[in-house]
Amino acid sequence: MTPLPVLDQAAGLLARLDQAPCNGCDACGTRCTAGIRILKAEFEAIQAELARLPAAEVARVIHQEKRLPIPGTAEQYVACRFRDVERGRCLIYPARPLICRLFGHVEWLPCPIQQTAGPQPGGVALMQAYADYPRQTYEEWLSEETAASPSDS
Ligand code: SF4
Repeated sequence: MTPLPVLDQAAGLLARLDQAPCNGCDACGTRCTAGIRILKAEFEAIQAELARLPAAEVARVIHQEKRLPIPGTAEQYVACRFRDVERGRCLIYPARPLICRLFGHVEWLPCPIQQTAGPQPGGVALMQAYADYPRQTYEEWLSEETAASPSDS
């Protein structure tokens, strides 16, 4: 992964978070929506995780229907391509992007069932620094990579 100062800053904040209430919990799973913009370094980490996982498991999750009803409404949303909607978990959890790691621990992404300790100091400053770097969706980074190496596709 490309070294970035903002990821060191993120590591410092993430190390202070108490993730214990999140163990085995999927209450924020419906917030795993398509279109999250991530850093190139995060895209590369996801690619490495996908290469490590069994191909059949990747295919099982990637090919699930991601257009889903919003619970309690007649509306629909599109889930993240890495959301395992059958088993209620993240396919690439060890390599999930920063925004996913912060869920439940920052002001603008509160825990939907109030089980975490609430907003932690430094989250807003971290996201301001993070936003200074180029970000695109996973699909946009993939498209760029494929265009740069057409023989690999
Ligand atoms: S990468 Fe994982 S944790 Fe993040 S939105 Fe997608 S499924 Fe959810």
